[in-house]
Amino acid sequence: MMIKIEVNNRTVQARKGETILSALGNCGIHVPTICSMAELSPTGACRMCVVEVEGQEKLVPACSFPVSEWMKIRTHSPRVLRARKTNVELLLSNHPDDCLYCERNGNCELQKLAEDLNVRDRRMRGRKSKLKSDHSGYGIIRDPEKCILCSRCVRVCEEIIGVSTLDFVNRGSNLKIETAMSKPIGFSNCIDCGQCLINCPTGALIEKTEFQNLDHILDDKEKITVVQYTPAVAVSLADEFDLKGNADIKGVMNAALRKIGFDYIFDSSFGGDVVVMEQASEFVERFGKKSNLPMITASCPSFVKYIEEFSPDLISNLTTVKSPHQAMASLIKTWFTKLNHIAPEKVFSVLITTCTASKYEVHSDESLKSGDRDIDAVLSTRELIRLIKLNGIDVNKLETEPSDGPFHATTSAGKLFAVSGGEAEATVRSIYYLIEQKEMPEPRMNKFRGSRDVREVSVETKQGEIRIASVSGLKKAMKILEEIKSGKREYDFIEIMVCPDGCVGGGGQPIPLLESDIRARIRHVYEIDKNETLNAAHKNSAVRKMYEELARAPWSKESKLLLHTEHEEIKVLK
Ligand code: SF4
Ligand code: SF4
Repeated sequence: MMIKIEVNNRTVQARKGETILSALGNCGIHVPTICSMAELSPTGACRMCVVEVEGQEKLVPACSFPVSEWMKIRTHSPRVLRARKTNVELLLSNHPDDCLYCERNGNCELQKLAEDLNVRDRRMRGRKSKLKSDHSGYGIIRDPEKCILCSRCVRVCEEIIGVSTLDFVNRGSNLKIETAMSKPIGFSNCIDCGQCLINCPTGALIEKTEFQNLDHILDDKEKITVVQYTPAVAVSLADEFDLKGNADIKGVMNAALRKIGFDYIFDSSFGGDVVVMEQASEFVERFGKKSNLPMITASCPSFVKYIEEFSPDLISNLTTVKSPHQAMASLIKTWFTKLNHIAPEKVFSVLITTCTASKYEVHSDESLKSGDRDIDAVLSTRELIRLIKLNGIDVNKLETEPSDGPFHATTSAGKLFAVSGGEAEATVRSIYYLIEQKEMPEPRMNKFRGSRDVREVSVETKQGEIRIASVSGLKKAMKILEEIKSGKREYDFIEIMVCPDGCVGGGGQPIPLLESDIRARIRHVYEIDKNETLNAAHKNSAVRKMYEELARAPWSKESKLLLHTEHEEIKVLK
């Protein structure tokens, strides 16, 4: 029901029950806020969004105060502006002064507020906190001195991810954010999704970087440097450098990476095609025997870590296929080196991905089983952008270049891994082909697409009906998994991505990660699939060649050794 309110002497419409902040947003009035986020419960903690409401003695936080009929609101009165400025000054009073060296310099929300509210001198000096930064994790670094206690990380971790790694401890001036039992984050139950990091307004949560060492490696004539990039990175780069009109973003990326100095450049979507071939074959066998169903995808390293830490009873339901980039990395160290007469130990293998959990994945016991890491360094999309800028590359002026063989042939199936629902859609195309020995009549399945967090599809085959679900966001997935365990839901195959919307919304993406950017990236991925005639992994001629020359056949003894892994329980404090 719509009601009328008065904002700055102008009558506007608002929905009954919505917050003042939401109503102001709908009528185009910007009020600053730090702690508020659309999908999270309001706290009113930062008090940056305070407004004057007639009849209220004190200023009220717009993010948690509901509108009422004919409420009279002033959003930018002198009293309001003074209060906001004081709030920023208080936050700055004990904040470190090292903005120039901070990871978030230039896109820190606190810095921007100070600028917008014209904070030009230091009127207040608080006691600087002396909290140590925590470098114990592989993906995330915590720097509590820069924390402004907005609680976004706490709420994201609890309300969207569902693992509740972070929480407030102590009171008053000793209030701070900690993990359970104040363990270092590397020893906590954190699954390295990076969603806290991407939502932190300051440099209090940043990724662990391997960026600094790369210079020396690229300079080392003894090393053969290879780089692979995941499909979600390419579509994100298009946004960052405004390349949307350029159809061949991948070609631009290849050229940029060669300019940076990499010897060989690969598109990880080849690995996606290989994963589809392997898990489609694994599924057909499991489905025929009705064993360990539903089979659950394991391409999301955060989700695998979650299962190993929180739900080891489901480990046997995970597919044993490696993630696309790990499968690709195995093929680089074996097939690629063999074809090019390169000693595998000379190869320095870099992964560029949207996923902070991959930084953990390459160090995990599973990845180290063979005694050697197949991936030597992981860079996020953010780090790639920095690398491009550092090297003074104008991507808009680059001529496109192809990626390197033997992985140059890709299909749109491998690219669909960038979005939630995409891996399931790509795998179903090949499952159908394996069972029916013919292509799906309608391979592009709209039911896997769109913004819902759970999508269900059923496909009729000679071996019976296959019930498939794709779930985006771990909190939702936890509920679905519980319902499966209690028999309330039944599926044969499930794709789960921890980050909402999948890898395009990953913790390694440029900050801020806007909803409109995510939607644009999703559209871009489906556009690629629409325009691609090679839309199924089993149509990839280079993948067929790889099996002929190296792994014999999907789900064979040889391919299991090369492309599959084992998952094991991890004991952590919960
Ligand atoms: S770590 Fe970042 S997101 Fe978390 S409370 Fe501190 S400033 Fe806010
Ligand atoms: S990385 Fe993910 S799981 Fe870890 S603390 Fe942040 S939101 Fe929670």
